[in-house]
Amino acid sequence: MTASEEKFTRQTLLEVQPLTPSLFTLRTGRDPGFRFRAGQFARLGVSKADGSLVWRAYSMVSSPYDECLDFFSIVIPGGEFTSELSRLREGDRLLVDKQAFGFLTLDRFVDGRDLWLLGTGTGLAPFLSILQDFGAWERFERIILVYSVREARELAYQELIAGLAQRDYLAEYAHKLQYIPVVTREAHPGALGQRITTLIENGELERAAGLELSAEHSRVMLCGNPQMIEDTRAVLKKRDMHLSLTRRPGQIAVENYW
Ligand code: NAP
Repeated sequence: MTASEEKFTRQTLLEVQPLTPSLFTLRTGRDPGFRFRAGQFARLGVSKADGSLVWRAYSMVSSPYDECLDFFSIVIPGGEFTSELSRLREGDRLLVDKQAFGFLTLDRFVDGRDLWLLGTGTGLAPFLSILQDFGAWERFERIILVYSVREARELAYQELIAGLAQRDYLAEYAHKLQYIPVVTREAHPGALGQRITTLIENGELERAAGLELSAEHSRVMLCGNPQMIEDTRAVLKKRDMHLSLTRRPGQIAVENYW
């Protein structure tokens, strides 16, 4: 098979950065022909010692305009992919699928005024791509990023989030973004302390955002723990908010992250 017939390209691993013992970021080169929409994911492949390939889906953290691809990963104890990945070093080769996938993209919504990005753990990744792109900033009046982790040390990409408003190309929109960190298993100054579902039900999330979650104005993206997604959808259903489908536009778009 020639390289152009293959379904993937070979990219160089440019950077691997551990954040905590179980979280790390990685950066690879990008094939000039690789196109994606902010919020989508790609499959990454690594070769095992026996020569076979293991694949796993990762959302892009970087924007569709960046030259490199950034990814955010958790180490799954005993996990086939991450244990192979953890053996790789900068300069090694990684396979990246030629096609991007996924529907956690802004075109899921036909309207809306406020964009709520609700993520747990590594489910933050696609929101970082969306926030590094223009679309959401141009389109929505307010953007509320809610990022829930168990312990404060797992709050990744804090510098990137804080720095968004300083970027030249986003500066005029900076006032639109509100970041609400949530730490559920220890007290942490500046963060809310209960699950996203509870915070919606007891009204604390809206109080913190100074904004109402409503079917009329809010468009909600959910990414992360599959149970969080199911539970949050149930909570939002009580407010008449539903999954947005092509044949029936709604208020919610989701991506299970595991
Ligand atoms: P997590 O259990 O997903 O917790 C992250 C945040 O989500 C915490 O604040 C947690 O609150 C909250 N949360 C969990 N369930 C929720 C629900 N039903 N409703 C609302 N909020 C909820 O933790 P994690 O550290 O990201 O991942 C934990 C495990 O998941 C890891 O051991 C890993 O093996 C696995 N994982 C697998 C993959 C994969 O790709 N296979 C990816 C990510 C994680 P609480 O503290 O109250 O639980």
